[in-house]
Amino acid sequence: MDEISLALNPPRFVKRARGKAPPPEARAYINPAVCEGCGDCSDQSNCIAIEPLETEFGRKRAINQSACNVDLSCLKGFCPSFVTVAGATIRKKIGASVPDVTLPEPTLVALPEAGPYNIAVTGVGGTGVLTVAHIIGMAAHIDGIGAQALDITGLAQKGGAVISHVRLARKPETIAAQRIPSGTTDLLLAADMVVAASAEGRHLISAAHTRAVIDTHATPVAGFIRDRDFDFRAGSTLSIIERAAQKPAYELDFHRLALRLFGDTIAANLMIVGAAYQLGWLPLSEMALLRAIELNGVAVPLNLEAFRAGRYVAAFPDQVEALLGKREHGPALANMTLAEIIAHRARHLTAYQDRGLAERYRAAVARIAEREKSLGAGDQLARAVAINYAKLLAYKDEYEVARLFVDPAFQAGLSETFDGSRSISFHLAPPLLARFDRNLGRPRKMKLGAWILPVFRLLASLRRIRGTALDLFGWTPERRRERALIKTYEGGLAMIAAGLTRTNHACAVALASLPDQVRGFGPVKMKAMDRFDRDWQTLENQFRVQPSLSPGNDNARAA
Ligand code: SF4
Repeated sequence: MDEISLALNPPRFVKRARGKAPPPEARAYINPAVCEGCGDCSDQSNCIAIEPLETEFGRKRAINQSACNVDLSCLKGFCPSFVTVAGATIRKKIGASVPDVTLPEPTLVALPEAGPYNIAVTGVGGTGVLTVAHIIGMAAHIDGIGAQALDITGLAQKGGAVISHVRLARKPETIAAQRIPSGTTDLLLAADMVVAASAEGRHLISAAHTRAVIDTHATPVAGFIRDRDFDFRAGSTLSIIERAAQKPAYELDFHRLALRLFGDTIAANLMIVGAAYQLGWLPLSEMALLRAIELNGVAVPLNLEAFRAGRYVAAFPDQVEALLGKREHGPALANMTLAEIIAHRARHLTAYQDRGLAERYRAAVARIAEREKSLGAGDQLARAVAINYAKLLAYKDEYEVARLFVDPAFQAGLSETFDGSRSISFHLAPPLLARFDRNLGRPRKMKLGAWILPVFRLLASLRRIRGTALDLFGWTPERRRERALIKTYEGGLAMIAAGLTRTNHACAVALASLPDQVRGFGPVKMKAMDRFDRDWQTLENQFRVQPSLSPGNDNARAA
């Protein structure tokens, strides 16, 4: 969709922000504890508002409520993680607020005597980024400065790359072209790092000319929809921009801060503008910027507050950590040590079943860790086992899904996300009850009201019959295969413990990590288990045929 049709027919969430579309009847929410990160919801809905959520259990999914168009297409994902919430609004101001203090007046960069001052704004379509360029252009007009703006948008209204070229000049006639010439950008406002680091983005900036304000948040891109494990390479993307622009750049996770301060990621855009102004890098008056925000007419109070918040964080950098607060979902798995992973999973398995299961887990991981340590081969294998064995043991059956929905953390997550009285519906495909849909090629999910919560409580209390003859759910093909998978894996661990060398260590890590591919529920999980069976066989054969060298030879080869 091009800019003109986008302007004539803006997306539904933009119309809602302008008060030109009715509020949604219900919003979707993902219970992160139930989510397996399988990516089926992204596959089915093609929606960029489904974002990665890095947790202690690895990458899961969350809905960015600010960017959600509320068509509920994500519910087509085959899993019980989704609930719909009717009668609620997105919660604003979920965290700290910016103190009411006088902000120091910045010393603004002067417009060049001759020629334009160039500002490039990079972002992702559908996240409000075009508004930034339009507000800057309007503010220039109010200040009596010549301005030209050109938005170059990507393929899609949501998810496509957007680069706005804004050129300001004392004399409008000195702006020869709408596009910023190569390497002459004076100010980069990188609302999206990936677009700023792209060939088109880099072409505009230079270490000699360009000051940069960068939102370090990894915005989901189209690649994430296709690849559930998409590597955002946030660190390397950031360093590409840092190398290409003047040092030091101003860097902050504006997205996370906007969510914390305003409950709305759209606010990140005007926070970036506020920070650029406070740093003195925007040659426009505050009066003109505030007036331009008002004239823009969309979410005016929010944008005014966001502008001030951006000014505040740039003026008082030592206050940023306090405003950001601690992360709600604990450390991401990649940042956890082996000991932390084991302790975390042992607690989880105790809650899932009992201490006996947790002890069985600890003992298996300890055996592998000891064997790996004796070879001096680091802890990669032990980590793989610690993560993947726990995942297999705690397969999400009916008892577990019920437990995770009656856990107080679920209600706390809803309260952090929504305001107002809520009516919740669950979307499940219970075995024996759900009808098979020939068109979808999978069971059809049923919408069930909050009356199901007492049933969940009962099911959660019955979890100790899991796997016994009394476990009615345990007879379904999916549950049988999940239990078979545990046996296969435990057999694999015994094989690894007996035959591990430094030569076959990498193969052992690949084998131990294989359960990571088994994600999701129902048909999604069954398909993943088919793939697991094939790959497991291949890797097991490889492990067996790799020469088992004596420790001396083995070390010599590894060196
Ligand atoms: S389990 Fe899969 S389908 Fe369900 S929310 Fe998570 S990623 Fe989406």
